[in-house]
Amino acid sequence: MARDKIHIALLGGTGSIGASTLSVIQKHPDLFELTAVSAHTNTARLQEIAREFHPSHVCLSAPEKPASFPDATMHAGQSGLVELATLPEIDIVVVAVVGFAALRPVFAAAKAGKQIACANKEALVCAGDLIIPELSRNQLIPVDSEHSAIFQCLEGEQPAAFKRIWLTCSGGPFRTYAACDLANVTAKEALKHPTWQMGDKITIDSATLMNKGLEVIEAHHLFQASYDAISVLIHPESLIHSMVEFQDGSVKAQAGPPDMRIPIQYALTYPARIPSPVEPLDFYSIKDLHFLPPNMNNFRCLEIAYDAGRRGGTAPCIMNAANEVANKAYRDGLIGFLTVSTVIEKTLNAIPTETITSIEQLEKVDETSRAYATRLIKELT
Ligand code: NDP
Ligand code: MG
Repeated sequence: MARDKIHIALLGGTGSIGASTLSVIQKHPDLFELTAVSAHTNTARLQEIAREFHPSHVCLSAPEKPASFPDATMHAGQSGLVELATLPEIDIVVVAVVGFAALRPVFAAAKAGKQIACANKEALVCAGDLIIPELSRNQLIPVDSEHSAIFQCLEGEQPAAFKRIWLTCSGGPFRTYAACDLANVTAKEALKHPTWQMGDKITIDSATLMNKGLEVIEAHHLFQASYDAISVLIHPESLIHSMVEFQDGSVKAQAGPPDMRIPIQYALTYPARIPSPVEPLDFYSIKDLHFLPPNMNNFRCLEIAYDAGRRGGTAPCIMNAANEVANKAYRDGLIGFLTVSTVIEKTLNAIPTETITSIEQLEKVDETSRAYATRLIKELT
């Protein structure tokens, strides 16, 4: 009997995760159908996607120029993302939007009972306390490679067996730099990530180690792990995507080529595994695997993120907002590499942490924190 296709809503189709998701869909046209897709600004790319995949719904949240999609229902603005995420015909929502903007769509998809393949980390970092209680077991499958790895390591294990997460981290392009040399590293250099091809915001976050900080908080929410039970491990080869240590001393690792199409496809087919478009690892060609502790003195963002996570409540939301502003200011050449962590730390310390009560509260906190960080940057430049 012919099986119904899996209908996918892809939020953020024009980005790096968006492209990898489209590659997975293209590889399995008998299994997946791109039913809805969004872009923020990139109208031309959205038109290309629409021509190739024929989605019945498209959303432009802040189009660069007007565009028409004669064969699709148009949605607009941030509310359009929520509409896409909750369409009755959608089976899986892939969240590939960058930043805090994903919060409402993820929350809406969770409440609507949609299966979620979540690449976006900022929504869970800011609103894990609100999103996680809305989810049924395995309703949200993480796409972030480390969290996909941890999820896979925990499959079939009892919660009491869990002892520690070893969250691996490439260390970014400046891993070996001396503290004095970090002051002058440019965004152009930071955008050359040694092992992963990603969007600009996450690539800068990977250079400052804020990406790992966000991932520590993401792991705390996804796996109910205390911050003391999450250890970051520098692993420059990016072949082991994370590990879980168990009470008996046994450690499970998940390995694979550094290609996001593997965790994306896993999140779309879970619990099944099917052939992927990725070349498998050739273990004979791997010379060395290295593991080192992170240097939190040089990369202050990681320590700040642990601190924000431990403070809890709205602290991670304040930190995230300040990071989004500082990350952009660094990319725009307004501030230096080391000022990114200064802006985040000062904002986190200036804005009082509250218990999380609602999405609306988090939106206000996000706005206030962004305004504070923006003022700080003006003062510093
Ligand atoms: P990109 O910058 O490549 O793409 C971002 C996507 O989000 C684009 O489609 C963009 O649209 C859209 N977008 C940007 N701003 C908004 C907004 N305010 N509202 C709605 N849509 C918006 O990012 P990535 O694909 O690299 O990352 C996406 C998410 O996945 C991030 O949260 C990142 O941390 C996470 N992630 C990414 C990984 C990777 O390998 N890239 C790995 C693990 C996690 P447009 O282009 O039209 O402006
Ligand atoms: Mg990651």
